[in-house]
Amino acid sequence: MPSTTTILKCIIFTDLDGTLLDKETYSFEPARPALQMIKQKGIPLVLSSSKTRTEIELYRKELENAHPFVSENGGAVFVPKGYLSFSFPYDRVLGEYFVLELGTFYPIILEILDSIKKETGIPIKGFSDLTEEELSSISGLSLGEAEFAKKREYDEPFIIEGGEREIETVRRKIEEKGMNYVWGGRFHHILGKNDKGKAVEILKELYENEFFSISTVGIGDSLNDIPMLLAVDHPIFLKEKEGISPEIPSKNLICFEGTGPQAWNEAILNILREFQF
Ligand SMILES: [Mg+2]
Repeated sequence: MPSTTTILKCIIFTDLDGTLLDKETYSFEPARPALQMIKQKGIPLVLSSSKTRTEIELYRKELENAHPFVSENGGAVFVPKGYLSFSFPYDRVLGEYFVLELGTFYPIILEILDSIKKETGIPIKGFSDLTEEELSSISGLSLGEAEFAKKREYDEPFIIEGGEREIETVRRKIEEKGMNYVWGGRFHHILGKNDKGKAVEILKELYENEFFSISTVGIGDSLNDIPMLLAVDHPIFLKEKEGISPEIPSKNLICFEGTGPQAWNEAILNILREFQF
């Protein structure tokens, strides 16, 4: 009797900052071996970040990555034209992409953040308040990258001058106003009701349609990655040494010690080996 084997297509969703990219230098060099392996195996690597479209496009170019991607904490999903063999609903066309929008229009987000500043009196500085020079000096981004980081469409990262109490007040205000708050590892974020998990769900459906049978891996290092990790079959959390393991109710969760491209490389090579993707 001929055996029927189902080909399980693996898809990897990855965060960038502190995960595939070094927290300080933004380099992905130590991840080369795993990146190479993924390419050889034809595994789609979907970049899913709080970064803007223009920032992610830079890394896609450097990584020679032509797969869909998720910008601004799930604000939008970008699918290159001709990438999928079927047609699907989208919100708009932008250059070479079909765009599926989940986020709230940026000017509305700024308006809400501004009202929170006024109502609480807490000193808050968003990316829109910072010059490229200021942003570069607090983030370690080059001036050119800082310019791209300011081209926001669905999410405003910000800093708060204050301690836990101020942060808690701002977080509560954001939620009262019907928006989402997330901590991205370096900045606080205000955004609409989108998150990386919702974006991953959309892409999973599209990939399922394309490949029929898929298995998904997700890898991230921060609280804003948790919705993405909950949406995949194999979540990997990169944990700072001596950091706290987050509460992620997934029986398959792999908590990997260490962050950045070195840890990413090892964790991805491990999972490819273990599940023979
Ligand atoms: Mg991160």
